Amino acid sequence: MNLNFDLNSNTDTQYDVVIIGGGPGGATAALYTARADLKTLVIDKGLTAGALGLTAKIANYPGVAGEISGAELLKVMRQQAETFGAKFAQDKVQAVDLTSEPKTVFANGGTYTARSVIIATGSMGRGQRVKGEDELLGRGVSYCATCDAAFFRDQVVMVAGNSDEAIEEALFLTKFVRQVHFLSPTPALKADAQLIEELASHPKVVLHAGTALREVIGASRVEAVRVAQRGQLEEVIPVTGAFIYLQGGKPVTDFLSGQLPASESGCLIVDKEYQTALPGVFAIGDVLCNHVKQAVIAAAEGAIAAMAVEKQLHQRKQLAVDWAK
Ligand SMILES: Cc1cc2nc3c(=O)[nH]c(=O)nc-3n(C[C@H](O)[C@H](O)[C@H](O)COP(=O)(O)OP(=O)(O)OC[C@H]3O[C@@H](n4cnc5c(N)ncnc54)[C@H](O)[C@@H]3O)c2cc1C
Repeated sequence: MNLNFDLNSNTDTQYDVVIIGGGPGGATAALYTARADLKTLVIDKGLTAGALGLTAKIANYPGVAGEISGAELLKVMRQQAETFGAKFAQDKVQAVDLTSEPKTVFANGGTYTARSVIIATGSMGRGQRVKGEDELLGRGVSYCATCDAAFFRDQVVMVAGNSDEAIEEALFLTKFVRQVHFLSPTPALKADAQLIEELASHPKVVLHAGTALREVIGASRVEAVRVAQRGQLEEVIPVTGAFIYLQGGKPVTDFLSGQLPASESGCLIVDKEYQTALPGVFAIGDVLCNHVKQAVIAAAEGAIAAMAVEKQLHQRKQLAVDWAK
């Protein structure tokens, strides 16, 4: 399967629609907007970074009989969107300006503008931080190796996570640092097999499987991390950098910096066509904290939002589905 996933090499920056998140919601929205002839870019930080991507088996997606992994299902969805012209970029969105016209999306690998933005980032965001994390953010704690790795040349750092994203960031760090302690909270990594192999066999990486990050220690900069492996005593590992890619169960909205109204639990608020309070900005899927979190629901919302985008950009009065050329 040859997906058009360009890592940080997207030179085309102006789109009709930028979709942030390529899970079932974002991938379906892309299928519909691309098919409506809207120039569409999906920015997604990693195949296994979302709820569907990390699901080992899914057996209730309509039209897909038998058991399939979430990542496999997602690849098929993305490939279908690509056949209609949607582009996918593997990148992490760090910030947005949704009030500018066009709207601006800032990712690690570039800045993109769009007439409409669909937010489909799911609900795998972290709630609680570990002790010391907030205090040492920007002083050794980072969420972006691509941005900060060069500051840690020849140093010893820690990466915590178990997804494709965490592994890719750790491998990126190996180009700069002397050693990477990789902490996976689960005994087995939930990532692409080839990436896991690359990580495990890398001479600069020490893999700590089934190990939780408990604390980031340091007076004014990161000096060490306190970790706990299942069934063992806690250990302090001296490091100067702590790169954290752990997942939780909160809507992923950190990159919005409060530009959109949200509920008390941080869930984005939309109208019946999935438009937020800002015209041209839509939100779909688990980031809305739907009562029923299912891939088919996120996909359906993606379809509705995409049709609403098409209606708005083509100045129609009603949603239309008959775009076949
Ligand atoms: C363990 C588990 C099992 C499940 N089993 C089933 C099942 O059997 N059947 C079913 O229908 N549903 C199942 N679900 C629920 C289903 O997976 C979700 O409801 C669905 O995936 C939500 O889709 P989404 O597109 O909203 O978000 P997600 O699938 O979470 O996708 C969000 C995407 O956004 C990307 N992203 C996040 N932040 C950024 C950023 N800053 N920049 C760029 N990209 C970003 C992520 O990489 C991810 O790909 C399961 C969920 C879990 C956790």
